[in-house]
Amino acid sequence: MFDMKKLAWIVAASAGLLFGSACSAAKPIAALIVDGESGGPYHDWRKVTAALAYMLRDAGLFEVSVVTAPRADGELDAFAPNFSAYAVVILNYDAPDERWPASLKASFESYVRRGGGLVTVHAADNAFPGWRAYNEMLGVGGWRGREETAGPYWYYRGDELVADTTKGPAGSHGLRVPFAVKVRDSTHPIMRGLPQVFIHGDDELYARLRGPGHMTVLATAYSDPANSGSGHDEPVLMVLQYGKGRVFHTTFGHDIRALSSADFPVLLQRGAEWAATGDVTQPAPATFPTADAPSYRADVVAHAR
Ligand code: ZN
Repeated sequence: MFDMKKLAWIVAASAGLLFGSACSAAKPIAALIVDGESGGPYHDWRKVTAALAYMLRDAGLFEVSVVTAPRADGELDAFAPNFSAYAVVILNYDAPDERWPASLKASFESYVRRGGGLVTVHAADNAFPGWRAYNEMLGVGGWRGREETAGPYWYYRGDELVADTTKGPAGSHGLRVPFAVKVRDSTHPIMRGLPQVFIHGDDELYARLRGPGHMTVLATAYSDPANSGSGHDEPVLMVLQYGKGRVFHTTFGHDIRALSSADFPVLLQRGAEWAATGDVTQPAPATFPTADAPSYRADVVAHAR
């Protein structure tokens, strides 16, 4: 006998299943911001984390958690975030080699090698000069005693990425000024649809970085000798593969002023999505800066507290 009530229930249950699968497709991306220290007092990492968390939440794609690493070596022994519970880890963090115990480094390496996403912001590429795997994840880094043993200098000459084995220290920047950013790979999902040249607002332009390389440079900026620069087109945005893991490395983000430059939130949101999933679903916003002038977002400043 045909039971209409039963049929109605089956239809409703099927709709529920369909609805359920649609929901799971839109499941938020689990993102973990790691902070706790960043070089000297010139990096206000607490405010930076607040701004980064705001930007990621503002994208509507991420469920954002924050974990703060203890500053003392001994206390790090008990610090063991479950990295594998996240699709992407964002490092707003800079500490010396000895800070992380071997077990923590191994756990982090395993997370990325097995396919975990990584985004490193600004001074995160100063961290851990002697941790080989970490430097391979980032491609280049600076300061903390890095010199030629870290790898060559990497920069663009014309349209070519060159490795320069000249001896010397790694890492420099001039005064914080706006500077032009030139896109080098407009087909990469992170850069797709963005202007070929745009102005990044007041920030440190990192130069003379050294490392093992193996990165795909997404964008460069000219480091002007008139502002203590190298005279080279320096890599400022790049992506790498480490094992199965995707890495987005941005040298931008010294302070809240720099983070509020209207390009930064877009690049972070896209970079984090790409590192987590391998693609970017976010459209290029009409408000992205052009080649004419920097623009800043008051909402980022307002949330950086
Ligand atoms: Zn800085």
